[in-house]
Amino acid sequence: SDLYGIKNWGSGYFDVSDAGNVVITPFGENGPTVSIPEVIGGLKDRGMNLPVLLRIENILEHQISVLHDCFNSSIHELGYKGEFRGVFPVKVNQQEQVIRKIAEYGKEHHHGLEVGSKAELIAALAYLEDKEACLVCNGYKDQEFVDMALYACKMGFNCILVLEMPGELPLILERSEALNVVPQIGVRIKLSSRAGGHWVESGGDLSIFGLSTAEVVDVLDALREKGRLDSLQLLHFHLGSQISNIRDIREALREACRVYAGLVDEGAQMKYLDLGGGLAVDYDGSHTNYLSSRNYTLKEYCADIVETVMSIMDEREISHPYIITESGRATVAYYSVLLFDILDVSRLEERPVPETLPEGTPEPILNLLEVYNSISLKNLQECYNDAIYYRDEVRQMFRVGNSSLRDRSVAETIFWAIIKEIALRVDNVKRPSEEMAGIQDSLASIYYANMSIFQSLPDAWAIEQLFPVMPVHRLDEQPTEKVVLADITCDCDGKLDRFIDTRGVQRTLDLHSLRQGEAYNLGAFLVGAYQETLGDLHNLFGDTNVVSIHVEPDGSFDFVRELDGDSVADVLSYVEYDPKAVLERFRTMAERGVREKYITPSERFSIMKAYEKCLRGSTYLKACGSKTSC
Ligand code: PLP
Repeated sequence: SDLYGIKNWGSGYFDVSDAGNVVITPFGENGPTVSIPEVIGGLKDRGMNLPVLLRIENILEHQISVLHDCFNSSIHELGYKGEFRGVFPVKVNQQEQVIRKIAEYGKEHHHGLEVGSKAELIAALAYLEDKEACLVCNGYKDQEFVDMALYACKMGFNCILVLEMPGELPLILERSEALNVVPQIGVRIKLSSRAGGHWVESGGDLSIFGLSTAEVVDVLDALREKGRLDSLQLLHFHLGSQISNIRDIREALREACRVYAGLVDEGAQMKYLDLGGGLAVDYDGSHTNYLSSRNYTLKEYCADIVETVMSIMDEREISHPYIITESGRATVAYYSVLLFDILDVSRLEERPVPETLPEGTPEPILNLLEVYNSISLKNLQECYNDAIYYRDEVRQMFRVGNSSLRDRSVAETIFWAIIKEIALRVDNVKRPSEEMAGIQDSLASIYYANMSIFQSLPDAWAIEQLFPVMPVHRLDEQPTEKVVLADITCDCDGKLDRFIDTRGVQRTLDLHSLRQGEAYNLGAFLVGAYQETLGDLHNLFGDTNVVSIHVEPDGSFDFVRELDGDSVADVLSYVEYDPKAVLERFRTMAERGVREKYITPSERFSIMKAYEKCLRGSTYLKACGSKTSC
């Protein structure tokens, strides 16, 4: 069954078992499965509580292979004479384990890395062992950056310095002479083509990145003058991330191919055409050109690219270049799942509506009761309008002191009873107004999720990015609650209220009711790209625990890496506290408490122990079913 649209967005990596659990299917639909609740059980046995970021290594390995397989089959089928070289843009997930695994899994495909800063370059140089793989240096560069990249060339890395600004060229030429290295140079261009989506500004004439055509011509002239035209080997463009429409990609590529041909005409020894990132992830599973989706398959993406490059190069009788893509999102998104528990629920309480109201009750409250008693299918909209009107009147009276706290409370009770009655009937209304159609959502329960959206799903807040979210167990039971998720930060933006579903995007998520003393676990899927890096310390919630599993072909799995999340002391140190000094200050406070007789010495002992434990402990809460408390 396609619960929560899992078959649409899961890309064959996730499914629901007959037992009602979400399972990982790292070897495809008919291969062995790993049950996520079983993984959670294993973590709890090891004393690791949720929230946990679960990384599934096999998925990363498979995503890299599948990208190369798809490009290689298009190259083979179309008779393309060049090769494909993937590079992973470090910015998309810089975590050590991710880069180490990409370098390891990428070796057989000569999958390289793309860096945009000195720090990323330093990391890449320590991990990229394959000298045939490309190391693409984008980003603004100073002398230190340029020198490091040139040393890399000297050491045999296939390192290409891509000009982000015209001013970088003299520096590269000067330093390569000084260090006696022949540099491989690329140019990043601004295309006039633009794509739709969140990152439109990454492309187009107004893009802040890359060289204009006139600047490219200046670069050519400068290189010619220095007798170094042979160093210019790569053309780079990046249209933006998550390009949902394949037409945008084709259009930009056609333009880039013409520039490439122009550079060849000018005498550059062109070898590489680098399309940047942009390969989208179908987060909502709709297979459309919506922002959270893409209207093409990977196969189509590869075939369209190979075919476009080939046709223009053939027309111009130019050798087929190496095709480079810098796919980040599509490489790592599927690989990580955020697992978290639900701490509590807040729902609108059902309260009895009084049959009669005492004498002296303000008029608008009497009117509300009348509305409640007159609800029928025929007058739903009218009742809705009246309910809002009278409720607002009561609120206004309260504000100016003309009604009591109790009056207001009775009014709210009747108002919500009316809304509930309308919600029960609204499905039978043929064409409900927009506000009436959304009435059931307004009655949604709030489930409190033990995580921080700002730390773990920052794009859900910053750019309203949709991520698939669903329970990872109890899926053989009918969900009974319509829910909005709130995180544990004290920020009203710390909530999720747009959810992916087979019926399209929903304002509420269908969840099961919580059971006393039993954990209820949810997963936010496809979170491997950008989220870890962009996450922040809002309310000082730190990194979650991270666990990697590797699944064997027989379905057994190992916990290959466990990383404890930030402790309270860690996050305090990130914001310039010295945890030792903090402890010392609190010790002094406690001593003063004893001296001034607020607490006894033995209470001081217990309080100090609790403080130290909290300082060492996780920033997240301990939910039901966790090892240490419930
Ligand atoms: N290359 C460059 C230059 C980028 O700026 C980016 C990100 O925006 C990427 C590659 C990765 O893009 P994506 O994650 O869409 O593959």
